[in-house]
Amino acid sequence: MEMFDLSGRVAAVTGGNRGIGLGMARGLAKAGAAVAVWGRSDHYNQAAVDQLQSLGAEALAVSCDVSSEQQVENALQTTLERFGRIDALFANAGIGRSATFPELSTRSWERMMSVNATGTMLPVRAATARMIEQGEGGSIVVTSSVAAHFGIPYLPHYAASKAAQLGLVKTLAVSLAPHRIRVNAVSPGWIATEMTGLQQQHDEFNRYIKSRVPLGRWGTIEEFEGIAVYLASDASAFTTGAEIRIDGGFSVY
Ligand code: NAP
Repeated sequence: MEMFDLSGRVAAVTGGNRGIGLGMARGLAKAGAAVAVWGRSDHYNQAAVDQLQSLGAEALAVSCDVSSEQQVENALQTTLERFGRIDALFANAGIGRSATFPELSTRSWERMMSVNATGTMLPVRAATARMIEQGEGGSIVVTSSVAAHFGIPYLPHYAASKAAQLGLVKTLAVSLAPHRIRVNAVSPGWIATEMTGLQQQHDEFNRYIKSRVPLGRWGTIEEFEGIAVYLASDASAFTTGAEIRIDGGFSVY
């Protein structure tokens, strides 16, 4: 299992204080990485650090709104002050909102883009600059969504923001390859988190999940531990520009 060992490596996970990001952070911690979670809520940040430390990892929470250039720069600085380097950056923070079209307001569109698209680019850019300085390569992982590919109704701005992330992943996979920085996307299907809390409460939606997802259920945050370890570790040394769908078979059905 040496190829999955992350001892001595440092990873930052935006939106790592709960949901899918916390699942990823837990996997990284179990594999031996020091983990920084970047998020806005002090309460969730502290709870995540407690959880990661209870797994035996070094962990740090940094208060950060990923849509703010200054806060992202500060978060990287705080992470470097504590751990000295960065080897993997998981740009996972995101918001999900539904809207009808053409009623969608410009304000909602811009908010979605500022968190999901700009809020991906800023941490990726900050971490990449540091990885190039370090000169030892690195791993960037972006949490996109199957919504980037499917015409899921009522998610016009969300789907557009998730497709924007995939464009960024593909171009950076090529342009950063000479620095041995790998850039990949993880695209979840329907996962039981706060973001999908409303849908989880509806019987009709649960019936939809059962029939539409080949594995017949919601995904769990624990099911993102393994992919995070794979993409941060040497096991994925030749994997770049990939989009890995964790969706219970949704996108092939
Ligand atoms: P979640 O449980 O609602 O968690 C969202 C995370 O993002 C929280 O840690 C939150 O922390 C953070 N966040 C939100 N806005 C932020 C901001 N402006 N700055 C910094 N952090 C921010 O959602 P989730 O389901 O785990 O979603 C995680 C990612 O997976 C998102 O990119 C989402 O689009 C994607 N995804 C989810 C599903 C699903 O079914 N759940 C499916 C496909 C893709 P704070 O609020 O404390 O900042």
